Amino acid sequence: MNVLEKEKTWMDSVIKEDQYEKYMDNGKDFIDDDEIWEKLNGNKNPDPKRIRDILQKSLAIQTLEPDETAALLNVKDERLWEEIFEMSAKVKRKVYDNRIVTFAPLYCSNYCVNNCLYCGFRRENQKEKRRRLTIDEVKEEAKVLAGKIGHKRLIVVYGEHPLSDARYIADTIKAIYEVKVPTKNGYGQIRRVNVNAAPMSVEDLRMLKEVGIGTYQVFQETYHHQTYARVHPEGTIKHNYQWRLYCMHRALEAGVDDVAIGVLFGLYDWRFEVMGLLYHARELESKFDGIGPHTISFPRLMPALGAPFVQETKYKVSDEDFKKLIAVIRLSVPYTGMIVTARESADIRREVIPLGCTQTDASTRIGIGAYRESYNRQEAERQQFLLGDTRSLDELIRELAQMGYITSFCTAGYRCGRTGQRIMKLLRTGKEGQFCKLNAILTFREWLDDFASEETKEIGERLIKKEIEEVKQKIPSVYPREIFQELIGYYERIKDGERDLYF
Ligand code: SF4
Repeated sequence: MNVLEKEKTWMDSVIKEDQYEKYMDNGKDFIDDDEIWEKLNGNKNPDPKRIRDILQKSLAIQTLEPDETAALLNVKDERLWEEIFEMSAKVKRKVYDNRIVTFAPLYCSNYCVNNCLYCGFRRENQKEKRRRLTIDEVKEEAKVLAGKIGHKRLIVVYGEHPLSDARYIADTIKAIYEVKVPTKNGYGQIRRVNVNAAPMSVEDLRMLKEVGIGTYQVFQETYHHQTYARVHPEGTIKHNYQWRLYCMHRALEAGVDDVAIGVLFGLYDWRFEVMGLLYHARELESKFDGIGPHTISFPRLMPALGAPFVQETKYKVSDEDFKKLIAVIRLSVPYTGMIVTARESADIRREVIPLGCTQTDASTRIGIGAYRESYNRQEAERQQFLLGDTRSLDELIRELAQMGYITSFCTAGYRCGRTGQRIMKLLRTGKEGQFCKLNAILTFREWLDDFASEETKEIGERLIKKEIEEVKQKIPSVYPREIFQELIGYYERIKDGERDLYF
């Protein structure tokens, strides 16, 4: 068998119809394009009183109904939008406080059997130099990220290809967890490996669960059936809309508790896509005892070499609409984490983080093998898309601290079993934020001691003092005195070089 035949045989073995058809309703999936348009058209000119009632429902951390989200999306009055923005920020603070989580993407392989019209990694893009990291190279990348930059969380990214199948993904996850690098005062290591990869079977997802996958992230890209079929050409695995749409059902079935969904905004009408995300979240909640998406992502289509579709689309999302869609997602699925990435410029990130974002990346490189010093400029240009913000983690953390946000490197929730249904309950009742605050203080202390520049350390110290004082003020109403004492004990031990202490 030649390489192409081997690939074809592999492709034919990937999709298992019985693993998604069982969730469908008489052959129909849960995204009804006509119904979404009916909701959007049927909720035009919403009464301000109704909008304010909807905002109160979000503040009570309840997932909205499709009619309610459609009403928010139909607001025209800019003053009312100001109220919406204020409430989205308030909901974020209620669930997540002033905490923000940082991570880095690690691209392991850009081989791909698919041909998505908007992506530089697509099979027909001859300009792309194909590469897959060896396990040793993956470790080298992780050493830079954990030992030099100070990341504790990664999202590991793979194209869909037999060379980066579930076995390879599992091996890379294991390799990353093994990395432990001495630092100034302690050691650096990656404590949570999230995965962005193709939809997989229940069996493959069980294998990833066994090696300690964090969140499993797959974006539907677009929920609009016709657009989906057009941008994911026939004859590719990705052309199958339902295999992708139901991959989070399979993940939850396989015991992967934290699942993440997203849309590539710019492929179709943004209001429709926000509705699609809501329907997806509600479907998961209804089928899996209240477990909805752990995070939602909302990347905007960006130029990529060898992907001319990006210039042609008429659905590009303006900065103004981008802010609106972020606020409406925050209000529609109030408990979820929301990720804004370095695709966006520093200015835009500054504007949208307060609207409800909980995670962001920094020191980002998206070429294969890009974190090691041998990486050069020419390779940097051959990537999946172009970045809008290339600031270092140190710079980003300093700016966030100046804005009043504490960067949390906490990965305790996952390791203490605060995932799935448990985390959903904690998020909905605002209790997760309490654990998070303590762990944010501890992990921020670690990071300041191990990786911060003098300037960032100084600003960070001030913020950390303020945070400790805030916890102290909440004794005993929120924090028992013993917990506060334990916090201070852990804090001192971390200052003395101990690492990875958490609640
Ligand atoms: S978007 Fe993903 S599946 Fe599509 S071509 Fe790019 S890497 Fe492959």
